[in-house]
Amino acid sequence: MALERTFSIIKPDATRRNLTGAINAMLEEAGLRIIAQRRIRMTRQQAETFYEVHKERPFYGDLVTFMTSGPVVVQVLEGEDAVALNRRVMGATNPEEADEGTIRKTHAESLEANSAHGSDSAENAAIEIAQFFSDDQIVG
Ligand code: GDP
Repeated sequence: MALERTFSIIKPDATRRNLTGAINAMLEEAGLRIIAQRRIRMTRQQAETFYEVHKERPFYGDLVTFMTSGPVVVQVLEGEDAVALNRRVMGATNPEEADEGTIRKTHAESLEANSAHGSDSAENAAIEIAQFFSDDQIVG
């Protein structure tokens, strides 16, 4: 196992319900360290770029609208095997399929409004981190 970084977003459904601290506690409890964090309102352009991989999918337009519907908290997490660990802590994309005790099982409202994002590979983590943070904003 190696010390790794991943990119995380606390999505608008969670910030609206004042769950930033509750979700951060779950991340930290699992052994992930929040080494950068900023609350922002994503622009349409930022959301479109971020989810570009899904642009042919039928839910793309709704997803971009949702991600720009309220504040989000963008984060860099560090830990052993952080990419896979964060995916485990988040749980399955569809909260109905997520394991008990995961962020999405505990907090998500729906398949779309599922409270958290986490990179799915180390390669994508590096790309996603670079979209929102410069190196000097990350204090490991
Ligand atoms: P993730 O890596 O677990 O976030 O899942 P994906 O990369 O497959 O999807 C990105 C995000 O799009 C998800 O976290 C959901 O917010 C949303 N999403 C995925 N599938 C659907 C869908 O079928 N319908 C809608 N409305 N949103 C979806």
